[in-house]
Amino acid sequence: MADENACQEWLFRYQWPDGFVCPHCGEVRYYKVPGRIQYECAGCGRQIALTNGTIMYKSRIPLYKWFGAVALYNADKEISAAELGRQLCLTKPTAWLMLKKIRAALKTREGRLLLAKIAEWMSKRGERGLA
Ligand SMILES: [Zn+2]
Repeated sequence: MADENACQEWLFRYQWPDGFVCPHCGEVRYYKVPGRIQYECAGCGRQIALTNGTIMYKSRIPLYKWFGAVALYNADKEISAAELGRQLCLTKPTAWLMLKKIRAALKTREGRLLLAKIAEWMSKRGERGLA
């Protein structure tokens, strides 16, 4: 299972491939908000979540579990909430909600792209024995 820090780093590079840019004012300087995966823009002072615009936005579930869910779903589109929950140590209702969000995200171009990139990254990590 990919660890949380690696998932955060990956998502940061996905969100801001050329480095952080504030979506509100275009400022590139930022502060990390302690204890949260959130950034404060040094220009306008607004806070921007790392998960902004993704299925993980405002979720309390750690990123590595989301990434794991995407990988498992990618490997088996028929995976049940019970099985997903068992593999990721989540309750069945939580796993069910994640599956619902994943399926909904796949209906949008941005969602499909992000989920495909996550699945690709997860499978590469697996092949290198880092899973
Ligand atoms: Zn800003």
